[in-house]
Order: sequence, then structure tokens, then C-alpha cells
Amino acid sequence: MPIRVLSQSLINKIAAGEVIERPASVVKELMENAIDAGATRVDVAVEQGGLEMIRVVDNGGGIPSEELPLALASHATSKLTDVDDLFRVGTLGFRGEALASIAEISRMVLSSRTPDSDGGAELETVGGRVGEVAPCGRPVGTSVEVHNLFFNTPVRRKFLKTTQTEFGHVAEAFTRIALAMPRVHFTLRHNEKLAFELTTSDGWLDRIARFFGRELADQLIWVENADGEIGVSGYVAHPSQSRSHNRMQYFFLNGRHIRDRALQHALSESYRGIMMTGRYPIAFMALRMPPEDVDVNVHPTKLEVRFQDSGRIYGQLLSTLRNKFLTTDLDTRVRTEGTDFGSETGPGFAATDERSAASAAATNQTAQWRQQLVDWAKGRVESWDRPDGGGAEAVAFGPRREDGGSALNSMPLRLNPLARSARFSPENPQDQTADDAPSFAENNVETGGVPTGEEFARIDSGSTFRQPSALQIHNRYLVTESEEGVMVIDQHALHERILYEHLRNRIDAGALETQSLLVPEPIDLSAGDSAVALEYADLLAELGLKIEPFGGDTILISSYPAMLANFRPADLLREVLDKIQAGGKRPERRDLLDELLHMIACKAAIKAGDRLTTDEIQSLLEQRHLVEDSHHCPHGRPTALIFTRDELDKQFKRV
Ligand code: ADP
Ligand code: MG
Repeated sequence: MPIRVLSQSLINKIAAGEVIERPASVVKELMENAIDAGATRVDVAVEQGGLEMIRVVDNGGGIPSEELPLALASHATSKLTDVDDLFRVGTLGFRGEALASIAEISRMVLSSRTPDSDGGAELETVGGRVGEVAPCGRPVGTSVEVHNLFFNTPVRRKFLKTTQTEFGHVAEAFTRIALAMPRVHFTLRHNEKLAFELTTSDGWLDRIARFFGRELADQLIWVENADGEIGVSGYVAHPSQSRSHNRMQYFFLNGRHIRDRALQHALSESYRGIMMTGRYPIAFMALRMPPEDVDVNVHPTKLEVRFQDSGRIYGQLLSTLRNKFLTTDLDTRVRTEGTDFGSETGPGFAATDERSAASAAATNQTAQWRQQLVDWAKGRVESWDRPDGGGAEAVAFGPRREDGGSALNSMPLRLNPLARSARFSPENPQDQTADDAPSFAENNVETGGVPTGEEFARIDSGSTFRQPSALQIHNRYLVTESEEGVMVIDQHALHERILYEHLRNRIDAGALETQSLLVPEPIDLSAGDSAVALEYADLLAELGLKIEPFGGDTILISSYPAMLANFRPADLLREVLDKIQAGGKRPERRDLLDELLHMIACKAAIKAGDRLTTDEIQSLLEQRHLVEDSHHCPHGRPTALIFTRDELDKQFKRV
């Protein structure tokens, strides 16, 4: 094919492909233009997530009527005059391609009026074809209305998500600009309903609260530092408030929202040692520096920038935060980690009495749940149909040993000598390291894992199936005899699997136990999260998490899975939403449900470190067959390891 110069229309479409990915990109570009025009008020309205219509109205300086066609021409801008300007950009826009790009792929009406003209003028474009400038009556400022975005680029249109998801992106774009510009009055409407109204009387913190909730905002810590011309200031969250993703890390450079890996890294570094690994800090940081010290022309949507001295800004952010943490008494505000809310959720605050009451209630709930588990298992065992005496006995200790020895006697006799043999190991003296052997026995004593003589006496007098069927060691493993040898069970992993199977069966039968809240709980989410929550409301309901919209980005939770009685519904919902969005792409329904069941099971299960009673141990083992019989293939970590008798014999040089 010969080389050809592309038509302007094609050039614009290509540019549009880079700049305009979805309705939210249009919202971003139009809002930026309004800010650049000096507007003090910007009203954004979208219909159907922006798929139908996007309108941005401002009260800025306007465009003279004779320049309207120019504003739509590509590479036409009023913001740069020479090359030097490119290296000291003081405006949000400068490339002159946004309006041209949007006009190319939609029907667009641009209307404007400058302060010194008597009336306004408007210009309509359809798919890049520019109409005639016509006079119109309007106040000073500019309005851009975009209909049928991507109507002539069907491939792009196909990639768009649901209305709710697209609106989530729109709201995120709106959030970023509104957070960067606290002195501008903004509104956002979706399908004629007011989603946000942000007045200028509020401070930055109020704005953060409007978007992310009072609870979060009230706990933020102010940080500030200036080093010559470079200033760093903003709010960071207490280390006990974290997220499983980094979307709550907002960086603003000279009033522009940016994303920067180095800054994110500096943030994480500053929290190192005071935040659990795998968690991400929350931050709203504003950076100031001379425009010539940063290149904003490295990314089509200007989301990324290049610092002339990135090491300096990295160091300054890190040291500012580090110093703040060192001089702040963080402890007084934190709950102890890994208690009732589970270390995997990340601890919440215990700032109020209300919360400590909640935590006490949660402890009770845990005890109750455990008791239920025990009762349930007992019920099963009692009604147990044992045609061949199989089932749980395969894992319970002793009753079917070939030597016919009594299970009751065998327990202490078999296990205690095992512990002792590690110390003496007469047949294998070289294994007798002073460190290993005593620690095994001593830890057992310390943690109380080995049943005491008294306990055994108590058990002896009980019914047959109250025998301790396994030994709990280090409060995390259960050691028991299996047909083949010795089995070591991971108590958390096993319980998690059992609960998972239980949940799966219940869901398949459409009967998951849920707990209704007496008073539905409102939670403030980010706009993106609330959109996702509503989009997945049906799936969440299947999990027992019933939600409904409650105005703005507040969601009302009315029930939650009964198994998670000791979690705060709000924390649970947030985590579920993180999970849904974790992969980036839209998850398959089945996979997602499965993943969420795993998450619930994991949270509800006893933890490593939990001391179990004999009943609980028994109960766990009795339910083990549920896992073994299951048709769902097990995934994740193993629940048990087996050391075969042959292997033991070999190790002890008996063969
Ligand atoms: P850029 O913002 O990069 O200059 P755009 O395509 O977004 O490019 O806009 C082109 C030009 O149109 C701007 O340089 C500006 O002069 C004018 N313009 C666009 N939107 C507005 C607005 N809301 N108010 C005043 N002028 C505007
Ligand atoms: Mg622009």
C-alpha cells in the first residue's frame, strides 16, 4: 500500500481513541476546560452513565463567538503560545485535542459567551462535521453538551459497561477534580437526580468527608512540609485504616490529579512496620512545585507526569510522613490487632464506646457460633447412620486400630510417648538436637495443647465419643492417628473448608442463613464503590448481604450472612467490593460467588492461635467427612498432612 496522509477526521478519531476512553473521559476533559477558563462554578449532568448525554456548564471566561470553530479544531489551544510554555504548563489542558476528539465521535453542542459580549453563540457538530455558528441567549460562561458518544465508533461503544459502572467512572473523574479544586462550587447530576453538591464554604476535609464519609475524614491526620519551592501537604489515614487496593491514594500536583508509582511507593514505605503487609494506606496529598520542574506532557490524558527530580519529591514525601508518624501517638487510637474483627480484615478503630460494645458483642457471637457448631456436629454424630462403621472414624483417634486396643487408653499412651520420643529418640541419637526436642514438649505445656491428666480423667468418665480425638498443638494444628499413620490437621484450613462446603450447599439449596439488622446500617462509599455495589446487588443478596441505594453514594445494608455475626456489615461490604474489583476486569458470576464464599468461610473459621476445647476439636473432626465427600475440588492450602507409618518406620530406622 502506498503511503498516504491521513484525513483530518481519521486523525481526530485516532486522537479520540487515546484521550476519550469512556464517558468519564469526556467529563474529565470538559471539567478541566472549565477550570482553565477560571470558572468558580461547574455543573455536571449525565444521563445513563453518560452514554446518552453529558453536559458541563461553567461560569468561566467563555469563548468569543468567532473563535468557536477554532476551539473545535484539533491542535488549537489558547493555552500555549511557544515551545517554552510546554515546559511550564500552568493550566490543566494544553494539547488542544479534547474538544476536537469529542466532536469527532458524538453529536456535540458548544455554546459560550464572554463577559464583554451582549449575547452568546453556539455551534453544533455531528461526527466531526461542523455546523454554522448561531447566536443564542445565555449567561456568561460555556456549556458543552455531548450526545450519543461513540455512535460512530461501534467497537469503543461495545466495550462500555453498564450504566451504573460508567456512572461510577464519571463520579470518580468528578471526585478527582472536585478534590483538587476546593475553591470551586461543583454539582453532579445523574438522570436528573442530584448526586453531589459541593459548595465553597466547605474546607478540603469536608469535601473528603462528602466523598468518602465522615467517619474516614474524622480520623485523618494532617501532614505538611515545605522545602524551598516544593510543598507537600494533605491528609493521611491512621495505619489501622487501610484498604486492600491503592485506589484511595489521591495525589494532586499543582491542582492536577496524578498517578505516580514513586509517590505511591513513598507512601507505602512510610507506613512500613506500622501497617500489615498487603494493605494499602489511604492518603490525600497535594504537592506544589514550580511548573518547570515537572513534565506533564508524557501521557495522553495527563494522568502521569515526569518529575525533573523524582528522588527529591520521593524523599520529601517519605520523610514528611515518617516524621509525622514518629511524633504522633498512634497507639492511643488503635485497637489491638487481630482480635474479633480478624487479622485478615485489618483492625478497625475503637474510638467510641459504642464500638467497644460492638466488640464485646462480637466475642459473644463468636462463642455462640462455636457452640452452634458443636451442637450441630453432635446432632450429626448421634443421628449418624454407620453401615460399616466408616466415616468419621477414619480420622477419629483409635477406635478401629488393628491391635484392638481401647481408644480411651490409647489416647494418652499413644500421643504422650510420641512427644517424649522426640526428646529421647534412642534409636536415632544424632537427631537429638537440644533445640528441637525440648521446644516441642515445652511449647505444649505452655500453650496447654497437651491434655492434662485431669482432663483425661474427666474424659474417661464421659461418653465414648467425648474422647479427645486429636491433640491440639501450638493452638493451631490437630494431631491425630489415621489409618495410614499420623495426620496433622491445620485447624483453620479445615474449618474454613467445612464452612465453605456448608455455605455452598446452602446456596445451592437457596437457603443461606442471614441475619437481618434491626436498624439498617447506612454506609458511605466512594462513588465507584457504590456503583459496583448496586450493580452486584443481586449477587450480594444471594450471599445474604442485602443492600439498597440510600441517596448519594450511601448504601443501606439490611442483612448480612449469619455466619459473619462478629463482623461489622460495613467492613464486610467494603471488602466484598474490593474483591469484586480486584481483578480489574468484570469477574464471572460463578467465580465471584465462589471467591466470596471462600472469603466468608475464611473469616468465620476459627483462626490459627485459637485454643479449642475438646468438644470443638471433636466437632471439627466429626465434620471432616463433609470436606472429604465433597464433589467440589478442594483448592487453596491443604487441610491436612499425613505422615505414613511406613515413613515413620523408615525415619526411625525400624525397617
Ligand atoms: P486544551 O484544553 O488542551 O486547550 P481543548 O480541545 O480542550 O484543548 O480546548 C480547546 C480550546 O477551547 C481551549 O484552549 C480554550 O481556549 C477553549 N475552551 C474549551 N473549553 C472552554 C471553556 N469551558 N471555557 C472557555 N474556553 C474553552
Ligand atoms: Mg482541554
